[in-house]
Amino acid sequence: MVLLEEPIKEPVMVKNYINGEFVESESEEQLDVINPATQKVIGKVPISLPDELNAAVDAALDAFEEWRKTPPLARARYMFRLKALLEEHFEESARIGVMEHGKTIDEFRGEVRRGIENVEVATGIPSLMMGYNLQDIAVGIDEMVVREPIGVFAIIAPFNFPYMIPFWFWPYAVATGNCVIIKPSSEVPLSQYKVAQLVDEVGFPPGVINFVNGDRRVVKAMLENPNISGYCFVGSTKVGKEVIYVGAAKQGKKAICQCSAKNYLVVMEDCDLERTTSSIMTSFFGNAGQRCLAGGNLAIVTKDDAFYRKVVNAVVEKAKRIVVGYGLDTEVTMGPVRSVDKKERIVGYIEKGIEEGAKLILDGRKPKIKGDYPETCFLGPTIFEDVTPDMVIAKEEIFGPVMPIIRFESLDEAIEAINTKTPYGNAATIYTSNGKYARQFVYEVKCGNIGINIGIVAPMAFFPFGGMRDSFFGDRHGQGRDAIEFFTERKVVISRWW
Ligand code: NAD
Repeated sequence: MVLLEEPIKEPVMVKNYINGEFVESESEEQLDVINPATQKVIGKVPISLPDELNAAVDAALDAFEEWRKTPPLARARYMFRLKALLEEHFEESARIGVMEHGKTIDEFRGEVRRGIENVEVATGIPSLMMGYNLQDIAVGIDEMVVREPIGVFAIIAPFNFPYMIPFWFWPYAVATGNCVIIKPSSEVPLSQYKVAQLVDEVGFPPGVINFVNGDRRVVKAMLENPNISGYCFVGSTKVGKEVIYVGAAKQGKKAICQCSAKNYLVVMEDCDLERTTSSIMTSFFGNAGQRCLAGGNLAIVTKDDAFYRKVVNAVVEKAKRIVVGYGLDTEVTMGPVRSVDKKERIVGYIEKGIEEGAKLILDGRKPKIKGDYPETCFLGPTIFEDVTPDMVIAKEEIFGPVMPIIRFESLDEAIEAINTKTPYGNAATIYTSNGKYARQFVYEVKCGNIGINIGIVAPMAFFPFGGMRDSFFGDRHGQGRDAIEFFTERKVVISRWW
């Protein structure tokens, strides 16, 4: 066993970062940050007061006037400095993330890499932000479109990617000349606290980037503050749609809301079975299933009993080889889920599946844990077969290491279930070597991220992060060019010189 050194030795007292300074919240309410593997308290985070959020917005609004005038190339240089510091603290950040979230060290290294890639893309802002023009729209008259920053944006993050997700938005917001308030999930504030320290070291002008900690009460204050121009939210559909999207629309503000998911992975008889089953493992059990791009249902399309059984046996055999334990142990391939209530919710779904008549063929409720850690937040891989698309476990997001297997006789039936049996349209994958099937899948499936022989359809930083139906509300997405569009307004200038 190789247990990596823990970077957090004493509980971290999280402060807010407002107007270029770390300030202690005056709130009397604090939450413990608990390492889900060891159950030790590794930090304390305040539920900040509305006035503290408002102070951050005031600081951001003040900073905006100068920041928007800072030339894009100069703004890009701040991003280059940030990128260098993020790299320097890469491994430490990944280990902090494992300690607060639970995923494995390799998974968290991947998360940090994906976060930094957004900063890299944002360094290209002088080109990315360019408008366009045409001379002589009429004799002696020219027309051009310029992109301008808008003001102050709020970024509200979920618990499952504590480091990466705010980076889908704020590097683009800040590089285009806006100022931001970032609210990390109160369950996992330490990764962003580390980022805040590096932001401070870069020396961005005070007020350009602010971090305010807390829960839904801080979000409420954000929605009530008239000086916030837009919201970027990632989290559950209920909150994203009903609280953020509707709340923003009521005030005429813009919003990107990336929400819940239930992703089908479809296996065709002509797939490469060995590679397919390995990809399925990562998809369902990577990150302990706590990923908006995680496999939600495994659909096996076949009339052949032998093929069906071969796939099921292969996934069960591979799942049994998963090593459950503390993510800082380099031999561990699946960490705990984030918290006790999340584990209870997942166990509730397992019980529901049994009650609905699905056949439990691998039960992860009493997992074998590598090392001496409390069972509190651990689950093992769980697999059900004989699932139908109408069962609750096939329709709802479980957000844990659970694989419902559904058998279909044709691809048409599988696509019909994807499009009609779950309201979510985040991602779907087909495993096949047949171009016709792949083309039909891309064309007909109503999901925003489509994989062909790829189990986790995670778009790179220079592509938008898709999502359709109840998985997405808004008109632009996070990352890349879409984010640049979201954070800027277009101004049309028509000029005649005399
Ligand atoms: P969540 O909705 O509980 O919380 C997300 C954020 O909203 C947190 O910062 C939280 O403090 C805040 N919040 C929670 N309840 C609120 C309320 N009533 N009013 C205002 N703010 C509130 O989500 P979560 O459990 O942290 O994250 C898991 C969910 O996120 C899953 O459904 C997952 O699919 C989704 N997710 C989606 C994507 C995507 O890109 N589509 C990516 C990652 C996670």
